[in-house]
Amino acid sequence: MSNPVKLTFYGGANEIGGNKILLEDRDARIYLDFGQSFDFGEDYFYEWLQPRAANGLEVYFEFGMVPKTPRLYSRSMLELTDLKYEKPDIDAVFISHSHSDHIDHLRFLDESIPVYMGHGTHRIVETYHRIYPQFSDIGEHESLRLFKSGDKIKVKHLIIEPIHVEHSIPGAYGFIIHTSKGPLVYTGDFRLHGPRSALTQEFIEKAAAAKPYALLIEGTRMGSDPETDYTEAEVEAKIESIVKSSKGMVFAYFSMSNIDRFFSVYNAAVRNGRKLVVDTRFAYVLDSLRDKIEGLPDVMDDDNILVYFRMAKSGKFVPQDYFIYERKYMPKMVTYEDLAKDQRKYLMHSGFNKLMELVYIQPKDADYIYASSEHFLEGEENEAERTVLENWMRHFKVRFHKAHCSGHASRHDLIQVINTIDPKVLIPIHTQRAGDFKGLHKDVRMPEEGRTIEL
Ligand SMILES: [Zn+2]
Ligand SMILES: [Zn+2]
Repeated sequence: MSNPVKLTFYGGANEIGGNKILLEDRDARIYLDFGQSFDFGEDYFYEWLQPRAANGLEVYFEFGMVPKTPRLYSRSMLELTDLKYEKPDIDAVFISHSHSDHIDHLRFLDESIPVYMGHGTHRIVETYHRIYPQFSDIGEHESLRLFKSGDKIKVKHLIIEPIHVEHSIPGAYGFIIHTSKGPLVYTGDFRLHGPRSALTQEFIEKAAAAKPYALLIEGTRMGSDPETDYTEAEVEAKIESIVKSSKGMVFAYFSMSNIDRFFSVYNAAVRNGRKLVVDTRFAYVLDSLRDKIEGLPDVMDDDNILVYFRMAKSGKFVPQDYFIYERKYMPKMVTYEDLAKDQRKYLMHSGFNKLMELVYIQPKDADYIYASSEHFLEGEENEAERTVLENWMRHFKVRFHKAHCSGHASRHDLIQVINTIDPKVLIPIHTQRAGDFKGLHKDVRMPEEGRTIEL
């Protein structure tokens, strides 16, 4: 066998997320995603003990937290390390979607490495950078190239075809990569039980038609998992019925980037004659994504949406108390006083960081819908935070509900996808249950952190 195609897993092997997969074929070298593991830093950093802005990769190399690979990182990141800066030998990095476990370590890369991402992914990245400049930063890249579904991108002799999939964030893609060994399919993160499942169906059809040599499939939900097996439509129905029977204000928490969930909550509010109240950040996110997502309401124009302004410096709700981007939404302003007066009129988006507003709103007979990942409600590591949430609910006598479905395909759907795409070789990634894939396919290769699989 001459010139095997090599896959090296610097992240995403036997863990959910952190995908960072090097594909080498002849002289071509590309990365599939460049994310940060969910448990990144957990063993060495804690609250006040965090790397500072001045720190480079020396801190992460010390603990083996990022691969010590030459010709990859930027000069400034390597300055205080014992790895010498050299011109990179990576031809491209392909990003599947904008979740941190797929994109967050882009900021370490040398500026000269070309980075490819979907136009929707890029819009989300820009939007989050504006509202959370310190947390959301992909760094500088001289060549940032935006693709759309169906493009065929040439990198040396490789052809990479991004195809949209449905996930819990817009702008998510899988890739078909045409290598010297034959086509290789990389799913990214995907699901089939939401309103945009036709996107994933199209990806599966094209992947199957390519008759791939290998399939790298995400397996987040392969084992048992705490997520209920709802479809997004069932989640919407559940939220609607909670809102319908509520005698007070309804609070709902979900990720701002989960636009399908936004539609579910928005529809539940409108059908019950309630105004949906979002904060200024959420209003900005909706505004930024409107030209990319069909049917997304215009915050300034839509009577069903109001924008919550928290009390700030002067306490008088005047423009100078708020950032420039927030001021645009002042004509749609509601404050705690408005909400307190007529509580049954509203459904408010409200995360953990907005619990403080309850002190001012003084909710009576209220309901709180937790419409986000249930890992937070299950995991031991969140116990302290969860206790605080429960205490607030009890203190204000708020009824607590859950309504959620996963952004990832169920075990049942994963099996269907494997059978339909029918690859020669199956490589389970983005899962803690890679072993469960054995028995589903005749040639399963198990990825291991830092190790190479030759095809
Ligand atoms: Zn992921
Ligand atoms: Zn994801």
